[in-house]
Amino acid sequence: MTDVTLAVEGLAVRYGHIQAVQQVDLEVRAGEIVALIGANGAGKTTTLNAVSGLLKPSAGAISFEGKGLGRLRPQEIVRRGLIQVPEGRAILTTLSVRENLELGAYSRRDRREAARDLEAVMNRFPILRDRASLSAGNLSGGEQQMLAIGRALMGRPRLLLLDEPSMGLAPLVVQEIFLILQEINRAGTSLLLVEQNARQALRVAHRGYVLETGRTVLTDTGERLLGNPRVVEAYLGG
Ligand code: ATP
Repeated sequence: MTDVTLAVEGLAVRYGHIQAVQQVDLEVRAGEIVALIGANGAGKTTTLNAVSGLLKPSAGAISFEGKGLGRLRPQEIVRRGLIQVPEGRAILTTLSVRENLELGAYSRRDRREAARDLEAVMNRFPILRDRASLSAGNLSGGEQQMLAIGRALMGRPRLLLLDEPSMGLAPLVVQEIFLILQEINRAGTSLLLVEQNARQALRVAHRGYVLETGRTVLTDTGERLLGNPRVVEAYLGG
């Protein structure tokens, strides 16, 4: 048994002739919250999309729980327990809250277990139970982020990838979302978190990586990165 949940080595990803990611090395160990921080365009989203199989790397290796993900398709990666909450949430606004949650279980065949998980998600997010039959488009931004996280939980992730969960949300709502993410982590799911809100992300992260122009250039505990002068100056507003 390895305690390394996710290992990314020498990752490179290009869009045509644009080299978006050049050399990313990172790992997430079992039970960790890991933050990936960096400026706009540093390659954070591209890295997550390569891990979840949405983009094919041009070089490097990605393994999950000791097995290479190779050229597995995204839905096969989801089935293994590696699930992404996409940037911008990707909620289906004309479907109800309940239907959005049920979509998160689409690749599962254990219907009764999935029904139990739906109850568990609604217990974790009581607001989603209250709004279950409303169109998801009627939810506030924070509620939509909860729905996106709840939908991912319906796939029973062992590693959850989150792309900018705080985007566009008021500070109090951001706090609430981060508390929920910590609870999910304590219940046994590892998290890889991409954030522009570096301070908030590093506060909850066990470890973090700094990405600059497609390369991981620094890694340390969340606490030490928060106190690192280079990080303070570049990402925490001095
Ligand atoms: P942001 O916080 O702004 O989303 P990021 O760190 O997530 O930034 P990426 O979105 O991964 O960065 O982008 C990395 C680089 O790849 C940038 O230079 C960006 O312009 C480029 N890029 C991203 N998506 C595409 C695309 N679909 N086609 C071409 N270039 C792209």
